[in-house]
Amino acid sequence: MSDLELAPYAATPHLSRGRKVHEDAPPGRSEFQRDRDRIIHSSAFRRLEYKTQVFVNHEGDLFRTRLTHSIEVAQIGRSIARRLKLNEDLVEAISLAHDLGHTPFGHAGQDALNTCMQDYGGFEHNLQSLRVVDVLEERYADFDGLNLCFETREGILKHCSLEHAARLGEVGERFLNDQRPTLEAQIANLADEIAYNNHDVDDGLRSGLITLGQLASVRLFASHLDEVRKAYPALAERRVVHETIRRMINTLVSDVIAQTEKNIRAQTLKDVNDVRNAPAVLGFSAQMLELNRELKAFLRTHLYRHYLVLRMSAKAQRIISELFQAFMEDRRLLPPQFQRAAELEHARAVADYVAGMTDRYAIREYRRLFAVEEN
Ligand code: MG
Repeated sequence: MSDLELAPYAATPHLSRGRKVHEDAPPGRSEFQRDRDRIIHSSAFRRLEYKTQVFVNHEGDLFRTRLTHSIEVAQIGRSIARRLKLNEDLVEAISLAHDLGHTPFGHAGQDALNTCMQDYGGFEHNLQSLRVVDVLEERYADFDGLNLCFETREGILKHCSLEHAARLGEVGERFLNDQRPTLEAQIANLADEIAYNNHDVDDGLRSGLITLGQLASVRLFASHLDEVRKAYPALAERRVVHETIRRMINTLVSDVIAQTEKNIRAQTLKDVNDVRNAPAVLGFSAQMLELNRELKAFLRTHLYRHYLVLRMSAKAQRIISELFQAFMEDRRLLPPQFQRAAELEHARAVADYVAGMTDRYAIREYRRLFAVEEN
């Protein structure tokens, strides 16, 4: 879709607040496409393949990883953007980058690292994703990080405390001024939620931690399941599950589009600056919000707090905090490039190193440090 066909309140490269270090416009692709391409070529992006949210990477080859999750977020985000005549390229760039700062072992890892970092400014994965693209990627001759456009960076910084916002400069301003990011950033955020709720149902069923019987209490799932069973009475269960989930995603996406169109009509959005100052217009209808909330509550109780998931989380937390402690006690145990960073800011360098690890690398590093028979 060319800029001309976009809605007037879409983000466009020519209205971009630009990059920190000036670069000439790229021939043959847009600025946001260039951002997406840089993200795909980053090493943090490749590491997403071996990081997980709920299931640890070695538990099975069919479960989502952060990489496949990010690709699903981008797919859902692009569909919504296209229908609303918003900038697909920007949505795609934000979606692919949104989890770059995640620690190994999903939320358990992030909580553990945040606890370790309490006396040193804390650890927050959104901020870390921004840190990855602003500072930590070492690839380009002329700058640290990826030198992404402002709009991509602000989309990556989904949440942020006021304290952090105050020291982040331009990209933190909206938290202090109570402004919204672009609609494209709002889409990536919602697409993230649609993606993980649905694929966690799929992975949960596949792993056997949750059952179709339990899901009968979740209206959003049950209504689509009934529909599939009525239309295809003899269908094998795996296909029933997939047909149900794809219908759920479709229902959620269609609802967001219809409700957002309605919300946009109720505002006068002339351009992207109006989007920043208007209340958030992207969202579910009240009814879908409730159904979605029910699904999330189900997953929290039956999947995220399943004793087998909690056992793995406990193990993950132990690995993260013991790695952190070992590197804090003796920075000479760090690889050389992190030792140099640790001379300036010891705890932050350790957090960067630990956060960058994949699940399996963290497990290996833990063995290398604590098991006498390894080196
Ligand atoms: Mg995500």
